Amino acid sequence: MKRWLSCVAVAALVLGQGSWASAQQIADPIPYPPVKSMQQGTRLQVPHGKLMRVEALASYNEPDWVKNLVAEGKLPPVKDRLPEKPIIVDTSSVEGTGVYGGVLRHVTGSRPQGWNWMAGLSLGSGTLDELLTMCLVRSGPSWMLTPDKVEPLPQLATSWNWSADGKQLTMELLRGAKWSDGDPFDADDIMFMWDDNISDTNVPAWVRPGAFGQGTKLEKVDAYTIRWTFQEPFPVPALFQMSFRKVCPGPSHVLKPLHPKYNKDTTYDAYVNSLKPEKMPWVTMAPWTVVRYQPDQMMVLRRNPYFFEVDEKGNQLPYLDEVQYKLSSWEDRIVQTAAGSADYANLEDALTFLETLRRAQAPEFPNKISWGPRSLSWRVDLNLSKTCGVQNERDKAVRELNRTFEFRRAVTHAMDREALGQSLVRGPFIVPYAGGLHLETDFGEPSMIVYYPYDPKSSKALLAKLGFEDTDKDGIVNWPKQSPLAGQNLELSLVYTSLHPMAVALAESVSTMMREAGIRTILRPVNQLVTTVTDRCQWDLVIDRGYRDFQVPVANLEALAPITTQTPQWHRGTSEAPQQLLDFEKELVQTLDAVRSTQDSKARNELLRKYNQIATKNIYHVGLVSVPAAIVINKRFKNVPPGAPVLAYQWGEENIMRERLWVAQSEQGKAVELLPRVVPGIQ
Ligand code: CA
Repeated sequence: MKRWLSCVAVAALVLGQGSWASAQQIADPIPYPPVKSMQQGTRLQVPHGKLMRVEALASYNEPDWVKNLVAEGKLPPVKDRLPEKPIIVDTSSVEGTGVYGGVLRHVTGSRPQGWNWMAGLSLGSGTLDELLTMCLVRSGPSWMLTPDKVEPLPQLATSWNWSADGKQLTMELLRGAKWSDGDPFDADDIMFMWDDNISDTNVPAWVRPGAFGQGTKLEKVDAYTIRWTFQEPFPVPALFQMSFRKVCPGPSHVLKPLHPKYNKDTTYDAYVNSLKPEKMPWVTMAPWTVVRYQPDQMMVLRRNPYFFEVDEKGNQLPYLDEVQYKLSSWEDRIVQTAAGSADYANLEDALTFLETLRRAQAPEFPNKISWGPRSLSWRVDLNLSKTCGVQNERDKAVRELNRTFEFRRAVTHAMDREALGQSLVRGPFIVPYAGGLHLETDFGEPSMIVYYPYDPKSSKALLAKLGFEDTDKDGIVNWPKQSPLAGQNLELSLVYTSLHPMAVALAESVSTMMREAGIRTILRPVNQLVTTVTDRCQWDLVIDRGYRDFQVPVANLEALAPITTQTPQWHRGTSEAPQQLLDFEKELVQTLDAVRSTQDSKARNELLRKYNQIATKNIYHVGLVSVPAAIVINKRFKNVPPGAPVLAYQWGEENIMRERLWVAQSEQGKAVELLPRVVPGIQ
């Protein structure tokens, strides 16, 4: 029974003329059509060692009002608050040395759950998490690195060295750095995170040790040195795992006394929730920290006088004294930014592009709009799993069909990607997407794409070749008679989220195009993320948006092929029953294994292109359209790097490097500081 499809294919081949004639009608792949980037001018490119370096300078500077606090004896001198060697951030590649003062006003739809980040609480999505948690390394600004060395940048770890066999990575930490309350930062903070949070399964941490490779160990060498030991040599992607969301410690001097291992009078639940949002100021290593929290209204962050970065002239960063987060809604973010009462938004929804650009033509429009690469893409996944969520004969037959190359090819030839794009928004924004890795990346080139053109005749011929025929003449092909579903119409569920207007629009168009090929789709909108459905594997087709995984694959390899039993989304297994790999998937896994253990970024890029050729040739999923996104930021900010993407290793707010933004003195009055001259923890 399981082999019925291949039997059909063989039968069709030996039947002779008729089948050969239909085989000849199938369109060949064509070169991927040339597309024009939305980015204006050239994308900023800066060498790794220039963007950030770790070095002591002869002298340091800070805002005059902070100098006054030092003179009053309320703070130690700036040189004693900085690490022995601060991180020096380049400003010469952008608009240069800034002046102190000014406010950055964000609007967010999220709310802080509490400050115990290490226990899996969010301090606030919409990049408040990223702003408040400093990690071993930093990946956000890696998008602007020159291709010779695309690696994470220093943050709490200032340098790292691989052992000769590549199985040990020794990291030097920021020597002499301090938390925002003045307490010393050292390896004990990292070890408290690793031993008592990441490795303690009673704590619902963001990550577990397995994320760094099975069997990975971390040990303290001395107060400012830690050492990783891996099972595999040179796992460079593990380095990216040490950036945001993964190894970002909280202050052990605050949290250890609240942890059940060190405090017999408490529980894990109490530990997780021990730091309510009302408890201020939050102790951090970040450029700013929260000093005021008004539920559902506002959070005010003020400069951390112990922050460990300076500019080339020794001016302690950040330049801006205050960051505000208005606690509102996501819709309100773009509305207020367009109106000039907030300063930053990501323009991601193609259905709003034209209206925003129309408003941007008015001279009083307060923002610059900076288009990044097409780093968001929509696709149809076909469920390839034979081991997860298969409940009956029908599911079995559908999964077998999805696993058949000719069927995936029939679906891909049915997609008119040009029409799909233009139906969403007219103009140059949206381009066809073949699936796989994004073209507009530092490694992307058209030759890595095998592109199957829109050709409904090919779809019909392929379905006929597989034995599907519309026996009851209702316009939908029927399953072949050898199939357990013999005679039934070919009907597949199509899952999508109703939360995203683009997903709704695409689902309707895809359904129409599938119908034209003779396949009926049953629309299954969910009013939450599609992962709520895909995690349980009970779906046939799903429309989803890919982003970071296809834009910066080296940091997300597990999303691309069955490297783990849970991934990729369209081919999940279970821990008891791992995936049954298709032949080309074995090649994909091998290629990604090679990526994982290749140190040289050029060689890694070559391998990623190879991955993409195999994936697109075999139609691993069905690409629909690639969509650009733009950063919308108030014109008064300087040092916004040209071509900053809304999404790369991290979201746009982190990609622009907020700590080096500045506002000319004459423009600082346009946004009002709510807590002038306040420093966290100082009265
Ligand atoms: Ca029919």
